[in-house]
Amino acid sequence: MDLEALLKRHFGYHSFKTGQKEVITSILSGQDTLAMLPTGTGKSLCYQLPGYILKGQILIISPLLSLMQDQVEQLNRMGEKRVLALNSFLSASERQYALQHLKDYRFIYISPEMLRVSFVMRQLQKLTISLFVVDEAHCISQWGFDFRPDYSKLGDFREKLNNPLTLALTATATSKVREDIVTTLGLGKVTKIESTIDRPNIAFYVEELNDYQDKQNRIIELVSKLQKPGIIYFSSKKTAEQMAAILVDSGNFRAMAYHGGLDQNTRILIQQQFIYDQLDVICATSAFGMGINKENIRFIIHYHMPMQIESYLQEIGRAGRDGIPSVAILLYSPGDERLQLQLAEGELPSELQIDWLFSNLQYEEVLRNGKVELSHRLKEDGGFSDIQWRIMNDIVNTPTQENYSSDMVRDSIKEMLKDRMGLKIKNIFRMKKFVEASTCRREYILNYFDETASKKNHSCCDICGLELSDYQPTVVEPSVKRPDEKWKDYLAKILINK
Ligand code: ADP
Repeated sequence: MDLEALLKRHFGYHSFKTGQKEVITSILSGQDTLAMLPTGTGKSLCYQLPGYILKGQILIISPLLSLMQDQVEQLNRMGEKRVLALNSFLSASERQYALQHLKDYRFIYISPEMLRVSFVMRQLQKLTISLFVVDEAHCISQWGFDFRPDYSKLGDFREKLNNPLTLALTATATSKVREDIVTTLGLGKVTKIESTIDRPNIAFYVEELNDYQDKQNRIIELVSKLQKPGIIYFSSKKTAEQMAAILVDSGNFRAMAYHGGLDQNTRILIQQQFIYDQLDVICATSAFGMGINKENIRFIIHYHMPMQIESYLQEIGRAGRDGIPSVAILLYSPGDERLQLQLAEGELPSELQIDWLFSNLQYEEVLRNGKVELSHRLKEDGGFSDIQWRIMNDIVNTPTQENYSSDMVRDSIKEMLKDRMGLKIKNIFRMKKFVEASTCRREYILNYFDETASKKNHSCCDICGLELSDYQPTVVEPSVKRPDEKWKDYLAKILINK
């Protein structure tokens, strides 16, 4: 089979990016596959191309609505109309229609929540699912940085669909998380295609400043000097908003804040403005970025230290998808880790809340058909946040605990949450070690993922001799889009212009 010809015909590309062909070949030979490829390497194509060869539907489980919409639009632009995103963007009648006509689609994107709906599952069971794709598969593992309880049920859903051929995709997963993905999905023999997580064109730079005031001033300075566009990440919505306002006030910057507290339409609007170069800077929380297909992001600044290496890597991975040198700058002021520790603690239910819940819960009574149903009133009265409640609901329903007494369940939950908190703390301090590193930062990150650095250049990281002045605008207009330009051509153009 001439895969290159198919690539050209359906996607207009001349060659495969690293890892794509190996993944596609593995799938086409009927192997369940786990692929770890860095962000921006074109993971989607690994299941999109087989969609033109395999008979039946490709079902893609995707964690975020925006990510799904983005993929659907991209496929539509490439002329593929047989694509559906089963999510809340559909009106009731559209959803009704889609569910009755699932066979007509080649690609079906779906959220894990939607898979829980029994009517949806029944309709899916009538199809021939040629490939079950789990995008952002690291969300499966409770040891992963971005654990989503809904994802941990994907093994059951896969079984209900008669264990179709499966592709799990991720950009950032330690070996432990990768193991978890395979076990949770119930995959037996699996082909693993693991490419390096290194993105050599993204340089690392860490700067220590006294306090938040200094950080603000430094950001204004950096934004005015660096080649744009860029993203500045914050751990707080409020600080993101403040910084965006300061940037707008301080000069000629087109900046906007983006976070989960904005309504969906505003978020989509800001995202589109950024994609079409109508904004220089986005001041964002981690809610921004997954699925953002913008090639020319030149810098990523972290105002707050992220909670773990994995999310740091994922966030900086949004820079330089065009292969052009880009920079990831992390601003640190002493004690920054305290905020991360607080946030980590707030994500998990406290011992006090668990004790309270169990003293108000007739565990044996609420256990119906093997499922514990926690009432909404308990959530309100116990002061559980949405995320804490999701975690509670999920762990009280972990099957191994079905035969336990109420006290045993309570104690094992406490134990489990203690372990999770321990992991979070460990991750925060691993991130801090990256900040404090006195040897190459790239090497530190690669070692974390059991890799070693192959080749490095002077623009590797601040410790290896990087100069931030290399990331200032050149004579080429910053807003000119150069989607298909290679770095060498770009350099040649600069030299000619000089
Ligand atoms: P990821 O999910 O790995 O971050 P995407 O699947 O969103 O990446 O793809 C990133 C970009 O690379 C997209 O714009 C996509 O169209 C492009 N792309 C994918 N495969 C190829 C290829 N073989 N040649 C050129 N561009 C590609």
